[in-house]
Amino acid sequence: MPELRLNLITREWVIIANERAKRPDEFRKLKNKKNTPEYLDTCPFCPGNEGRTPEEVMRIPDGKGWKVRVTPNKFPALSTDGQRERKNEGIRHLVTGVGRHEVVIESPLHNLSMPLMDIENIANIIRTCRERFVEIYKDPRIEHVIIFKNFGEGAGTSLEHPHMQIIGTPVTPIQVRSRIEEGTRYFDNTGECLICATLKDELSDGRRLILNTENFVTFIPYAALSPFHTWIFPKLHCATFSSITEEEIYDLSFSLKTILSKYYFGLENPAFNLVIRSQNPKECASEYFHWYISIVPRVIQTAGFELGSGMYINTAIPEESAEFLRNTKV
Ligand SMILES: [Zn+2]
Ligand SMILES: [Zn+2]
Repeated sequence: MPELRLNLITREWVIIANERAKRPDEFRKLKNKKNTPEYLDTCPFCPGNEGRTPEEVMRIPDGKGWKVRVTPNKFPALSTDGQRERKNEGIRHLVTGVGRHEVVIESPLHNLSMPLMDIENIANIIRTCRERFVEIYKDPRIEHVIIFKNFGEGAGTSLEHPHMQIIGTPVTPIQVRSRIEEGTRYFDNTGECLICATLKDELSDGRRLILNTENFVTFIPYAALSPFHTWIFPKLHCATFSSITEEEIYDLSFSLKTILSKYYFGLENPAFNLVIRSQNPKECASEYFHWYISIVPRVIQTAGFELGSGMYINTAIPEESAEFLRNTKV
């Protein structure tokens, strides 16, 4: 019989469709590993084409060139200029569309995706994201900052050159608020952080673990909403990503490289979305929230049932997915 599992952190129900479940290797996407050149003269993110992006806001230099650079998005979702204003007319609520939308170009090489990068390169990307995250939060119009990555067709990416994006919004998104509320409720009931409790449970259970390092645990959640949905939790309780230390940055770079390489070799380089979920640096001492990373390989498409119910159907059994990725050699 299928079972419904409750994801305590997102408060979403998922049907683990064990009767319809596929074997982990059936999610492999063939033909995703195509040959891409190191440099493309039509690509605005390739070296030599810096003039085709809006004026750079940060770089990690490499002689005259760069290792990582950040520019505003040429087609931003929100405008950098203007005031944040609220207008409430009856039941119609409006906020002016101000915010920040930046692109972190991960490497000068057009075809170097994260699983194939060296650890130092990934560490530079994380350092850059941390610096921009802190900087964007200094803008008084910004209420929330999301760091994310869309990789591959099917994950919503429009440019092939490896990059991440950072968006600062003038309101707090519902997903963030509901996670904070769930964390607060759990703390209220138990006196404990929900993420710390989840970590303890996953470490002692062990069936869904993929990687356990000094500072981070990489695992498939008990109620994974989709096949191979992966969480990376820092072991140290902290509400905000901006507090990450140099030692943790290296450890996280290793964890990221490992899990993305396991996707790359085990699932044939699937499209994926990655999100860093964190509170505002001002809330760094909060006991109710604990920052983490969520990665969703796009090996299936969500459909009407998910849209209509906010519930999910997962045709992969989390314990089997984790075992498969644990055993994928990288
Ligand atoms: Zn490029
Ligand atoms: Zn915690």
